Amino acid sequence: MRRRFFEHVSEEEWRSYNWQIQNRIKTLEELKKYLDLLPEEEEGIKRTRGLYPLAITPYYLSLINPDDPNDPIRLQAIPRAVEVDEKIQKYGESNPFREEEEIPGLTHRYPDRVLLNVTTFCAVYCRHCMRKRIFSQGERARTKEEIDRFIDYIKRHEEIRDVLISGGEPLSLSYEKLDYLLRRLREIKHVEIIRFGTRLPVLAPQRFFEDKLLDILEKYSPIWINTHFNHPNEVTDYSAEAVDRLLRMGIPVNNQTVLLKGVNDDPEIMLELFRGLLRIKVKPQYLFHCDPVKGAVHFRTSIDRGLEIMRYLRGRLSGFGIPTYAVDLPGGKGKVPLLPNYIKKREGNKFWFESFTGEVVEYEITEV
Ligand SMILES: *Cc1c(COP(=O)(O)O)cnc(C)c1O
Repeated sequence: MRRRFFEHVSEEEWRSYNWQIQNRIKTLEELKKYLDLLPEEEEGIKRTRGLYPLAITPYYLSLINPDDPNDPIRLQAIPRAVEVDEKIQKYGESNPFREEEEIPGLTHRYPDRVLLNVTTFCAVYCRHCMRKRIFSQGERARTKEEIDRFIDYIKRHEEIRDVLISGGEPLSLSYEKLDYLLRRLREIKHVEIIRFGTRLPVLAPQRFFEDKLLDILEKYSPIWINTHFNHPNEVTDYSAEAVDRLLRMGIPVNNQTVLLKGVNDDPEIMLELFRGLLRIKVKPQYLFHCDPVKGAVHFRTSIDRGLEIMRYLRGRLSGFGIPTYAVDLPGGKGKVPLLPNYIKKREGNKFWFESFTGEVVEYEITEV
């Protein structure tokens, strides 16, 4: 595996999560050492400073092909002026799903599930992030007191069976805080499922090379991981190793992709991504339509594009590798699954279905 830009770094450092975090590229000057920036990137970094800051791990930066101005990793990680263009800023909301209305950091939308945002820190500030609003809040993990408030809320709501821990990057919490949070959650009888929404397998997979982290996750089993691969170039030997270590600890790894214009809004790329994920035993769970988030609407495509991709996958990819395409409704009304329409015509109990090859096939139900 080539280590672009960082051939001089020792293997030990490269495999260290702390090294990756400590050496994140956060300024225009640093980034210019590695890439010839486009004018809209230079302007973007200057104009988004403080509002939508820049941070990239050396590992994620190394996946960028410097000769491709529209490299998919580059588009996800390097600010462009379009993010703060008036035209773009006019659209979308900073918090379209009205998250965190109950208590800061807690969103209780579905009766049985609760979402916790445990930190504003991220390894990389993805340009399409649905929580771009938190970028300007500085890098801060919740205190023990705030975690205790989450625990009290969940204790009082016996209908909660599933706790989704997100951020920012939840697996950036210290071992001590992570252990505390999981221990307190496991004390609650009605909490059955604990899952993390983490992008570290993609942005800094080295985190999972730490036995201590895996031991903590294993101790509070069953724990599930939802991660966020968007492009086949993100499926590397390192991410494969991270996933393999999680699976060996009995931690399933599912993926949520976001449909992003210019990054992955292409049937062939999406097919390659999902095949790549299956190869490393990650189950594609969701393909999300890009949310109307202020500062990120330039990544949105049409719903027709998403449906076209879904249609393309059927017949070309193992069934369990096909994710559910979904939109998240504004105002916190929840997620809606979308499928291409395979019912071409219907008369009573007689249907005309479209097969994966496009053939229309008659199908009749006779009730006996
Ligand atoms: C997406 C989401 C969930 C989890 O939904 P699943 O379909 O179970 O993955 C829970 N709470 C909130 C607020 C969400 O946005």
